[in-house]
Amino acid sequence: MADYTDWDRVFVGGDLATMRPGSDAYGAMTDAALAIKGDRIAWIGPALEARRRIASDGLPFFDASGLWITPGLIDCHTHLVYAGNRAGEFEQRLHGVSYQDIARSGGGIQATVDATRKASRQALLSSAAARARVLSLEGVTTIEIKSGYGLDLDTECRLLSIAREVGSGLPVNVHTTYLGLHALPKEFAHDRQGYVDQVCGPWLQAVAAAGLADAVDGYCEAIAFTVPETEQYLRAAQALHLPIHLHAGQLSDTGAAELAARFGALSADHLEYISAGGVNALAQAGTVAVLLPGAYYTLRQRQPPPVARLRQAAVPMAIATDCNPGTSPCTSILLMLNMACTLFGLTAQEALAGVTRSAALALGVSQDRGTLEVGKRADLALWRIGQPAELCYGLGMNPCVGVVHGGESKWW
Ligand SMILES: [Zn+2]
Repeated sequence: MADYTDWDRVFVGGDLATMRPGSDAYGAMTDAALAIKGDRIAWIGPALEARRRIASDGLPFFDASGLWITPGLIDCHTHLVYAGNRAGEFEQRLHGVSYQDIARSGGGIQATVDATRKASRQALLSSAAARARVLSLEGVTTIEIKSGYGLDLDTECRLLSIAREVGSGLPVNVHTTYLGLHALPKEFAHDRQGYVDQVCGPWLQAVAAAGLADAVDGYCEAIAFTVPETEQYLRAAQALHLPIHLHAGQLSDTGAAELAARFGALSADHLEYISAGGVNALAQAGTVAVLLPGAYYTLRQRQPPPVARLRQAAVPMAIATDCNPGTSPCTSILLMLNMACTLFGLTAQEALAGVTRSAALALGVSQDRGTLEVGKRADLALWRIGQPAELCYGLGMNPCVGVVHGGESKWW
């Protein structure tokens, strides 16, 4: 057990939403204090006790009166590194063309792949860092970033190494995910199995050997990859001990959630189309349901994920931006909180857990992040609000006044 008896700094007089598991009402503590030692949370308790210690030991402190402190938010599903945008397709959809039709006619993901392959490293890095910066201004201190817009080994590796750099200079940690099975690139249009074999064999091995990916992901969907193709991929990832995420049940139920559960995936993401059996499989596997209201909204979908059933089965529900140029061009985690409540029916507490505790579970970092607890990383977000529900209630409001990232404060 680390020694946290010395404190470097104390945030005193604010209200804490600790989001501890099993706690009601956000695990709230009012008129509280939180002490930091190095990059860790060293102590949490009443403000009165902290003030006595500050006075006797002459400790540096920050008066957090009038502020709420939450765990630093976690955006656990993004495709942040890409070039170009798809505003033209947005316009097509407004004229009634479906996402599936756009994808079949060479638009969709392939259009972004073409633009991304052509873009310079510097252009990709600076646009991705700009998106990450906007997320951090809303209290996000951990971001997952998927590749998937290269679809050849060189570009995929380039995207993953750019993703690793996105956090430098920002109060943000990045987790990278190799999204090998995202779409069939045009050069393999007549050789599906050839592409799947490349991804599952030499490409996955090269990505793993280079240490570029913290996890893998695939798009298991009628317009993307089948269950047997995805299964081949997940088996290869498992053999390399890479944790698994899976895009599952976004547009149809192909049994992808059951597949994710069978491989003990960290998360199954989207889940508008999932059977009762799929929900139970996630519950038994301990797989997190990552809900992505931005994509649901952009595609004007009508069938929300079965939140009541997920809740009943005690499947942890995370919320993320799914920031991507096609279906969720979104850099606002707070807007996602609102949409998770308004469109999907989450409670405000569930939504906030979805970008803290459950998002940490979805990335496999819950031992270190996602709640305010002694010994965890000092990743905090500070808010000028009167109650936590304000984080879900506003549309386009940003009450974040700053973050603490690994013990270091940044104020806006
Ligand atoms: Zn996605």
